[in-house]
Amino acid sequence: MSGAIQFHDVHYKSEDGIHILRGITGSIIEGEVTTLVGPSGAGKSTLLKLCNGLLSPTSGEIRILNKNVYDYDPVQLRKEVGMALQSAPMVEGDVFHNLALPMLLQGKSLPENEAVKLLEDVGLEGEHLRRNIKDLSGGQRQKVSIARTLVNRPKILLLDEITSSLDQVSQKEIDELIVKISKKYGVTIIWITHNLQQALKVGTYAWMLKEGELLESGKSDLLHTSTNEHVQAFVKGEIE
Ligand code: ADP
Ligand code: MG
Repeated sequence: MSGAIQFHDVHYKSEDGIHILRGITGSIIEGEVTTLVGPSGAGKSTLLKLCNGLLSPTSGEIRILNKNVYDYDPVQLRKEVGMALQSAPMVEGDVFHNLALPMLLQGKSLPENEAVKLLEDVGLEGEHLRRNIKDLSGGQRQKVSIARTLVNRPKILLLDEITSSLDQVSQKEIDELIVKISKKYGVTIIWITHNLQQALKVGTYAWMLKEGELLESGKSDLLHTSTNEHVQAFVKGEIE
């Protein structure tokens, strides 16, 4: 089996015994964008949290870049696998302070010219560096969040509904910039989205999850060609 991330019969049960993921097996192709779709509560966010060590599988095996997730030092794992969330959590202060945070946590500093380059990568001018986080729009804030995930030059990026609360224009900008980043850095991306049009546009591959099971995985057009009734119902908007 090859792939940037490999799942082999992965199960996850919560502390109160709820069986959230059920026998996930599959590979996430290196250097490509794979979207993860499925109804709310399907287990999508849980699956991402297993990939950067926020949660551990109850059984089964996850290999990240050909190494068992259990064999990673947690700090090293977070460096290899970046994550951005819908809420784009920030600390008080300016953009530079937020970008420098991952370095600060390692007792290092982020050179200002590096920070400017990161901003440029996400389509923000360098002058934003000294702006207070509070004064940014939702779209700008999400761009800073994405730039921050790039500080450690991760090989894998996990994106959890990062455009769900943004307006259409910002959403389109982020779509384009993620595709650009994926190509420029050759980073492997898993992108959870509610939006099927977005999945078809940005993802080369798609996985569909429902009630903790992987119903379909493959090239994105599978979302249209799948003969699985649940996939068809989801694509038609009959289940959310
Ligand atoms: P998705 O991201 O697809 O909407 P989640 O992975 O967030 O789904 O959640 C999957 C299911 O697991 C949901 O039913 C959710 O309520 C439940 N769940 C998530 N985390 C926990 C937890 N820590 N304890 C109990 N149930 C949880
Ligand atoms: Mg979720």
